[in-house]
Amino acid sequence: MNTLTVKVGDVLIGSAHPIVVQTMCNTPTSDIEATLAQCRRLASAGAQLIRITVPSLSDVPHIGEIRSRLCSEGIFVPIVADVHFSAEIAKALVPVVDKIRINPGNFHPEHQRARELFGEFLDLCKEHGKAIRIGLNHGSLGKYIIEKYGNTPEAMALAAMEWVKMCMDKEFYNAVVSLKASNTVVMVEAYRILARMMQDEGVVFPLHVGVTEAGNGDSGRIKSCVAISTLLSEGIGNTIRVSLTEDPEKEIPVAQYLAHRYSSAAPAELSEREEYILKAACDWGAPLLNRDIDDVPIQDDYLREELLQACRRRFYKPEYIACPGCGRTKYDLENTFNKVKEATSGFKDVVIAVMGCIVNGPGEMADADYGYVGEGAGMVTLYRKKDPVLRHIPENEAVGKLVELISSDQAK
Ligand code: SF4
Repeated sequence: MNTLTVKVGDVLIGSAHPIVVQTMCNTPTSDIEATLAQCRRLASAGAQLIRITVPSLSDVPHIGEIRSRLCSEGIFVPIVADVHFSAEIAKALVPVVDKIRINPGNFHPEHQRARELFGEFLDLCKEHGKAIRIGLNHGSLGKYIIEKYGNTPEAMALAAMEWVKMCMDKEFYNAVVSLKASNTVVMVEAYRILARMMQDEGVVFPLHVGVTEAGNGDSGRIKSCVAISTLLSEGIGNTIRVSLTEDPEKEIPVAQYLAHRYSSAAPAELSEREEYILKAACDWGAPLLNRDIDDVPIQDDYLREELLQACRRRFYKPEYIACPGCGRTKYDLENTFNKVKEATSGFKDVVIAVMGCIVNGPGEMADADYGYVGEGAGMVTLYRKKDPVLRHIPENEAVGKLVELISSDQAK
């Protein structure tokens, strides 16, 4: 699809440029040495953009130091700041980083004030020549949008179009847009609608494509690949992140495989098994998601079931949602997620979320039936749908309590 070109540092996103591979640090941003070390590893693994969370104003100088020390070492990978809820932090970051990811609707609870703050933010980005990502997720659309449009793929696209049009009104064209969801059907549909809406407006901003909270292991890779490959095969998507609840370095080869398959990006070095899994996800994802086929004619039952579940055609085990973790995560997310999967694998017809932080976790876990959300300081809150039902549970008891909660609900 013919899009605008967005410039982030020296990296060009959109139009005929190869698909750009990106990822995000999961170290605390205030731990400058750990974050720097992770950035070095990610850059040498092939990350072309690195995102770092900025949870508070006090982290603005931290991300600034990380970026300038990387540059002094000759590592010029652009640094993207991830900001939630605060226009003040977003504005403070404009002179400091290469790109800022925001959800403008969360800048203020009053929609009109959020619009004003976004306008001021755009003016500042224009003045400094910086790029932005308008990043809306299915789980965190905001009250105003849900009341006005509902909670559908179309609502996500309409919500994004409001901010896209503000960019156009201000003649600000250095923006990328994303509409992530953990549900692959919702995600694919939302991006398709947004791409059509932008084409109708005559200005197509590049799209950052990804499945959010995809989980880990084969399931996380397959879920990401079926949805991302479906869009890339239609020419939708200019930069991608494969979010895995694992070390972010492990995301890079998966994203490289996709970028190489659908553009002139450099190839990935994969194990034979990983290539087998990713190829099957890319080959069968679109026909399953588009409902052109009802089953996958392969001998490998394990892979067949994973593909069918990733495309939401049949459910063989609980559906898991897990965020990839970031600098806000205050516990061992990957190990905990694996423990939750092991303890709950016998349940049927249930969506279980494991989220790294209490700030964004509850909002982001979308349509989960149960949520395990880290509070920090070794404590956990368990959710039933959107309701916190057990708070301040010590981590070593929380998996057991989650199993009890689901068992007692299913016995009713
Ligand atoms: S939900 Fe997970 S990825 Fe999102 S901000 Fe919290 S810890 Fe980070």
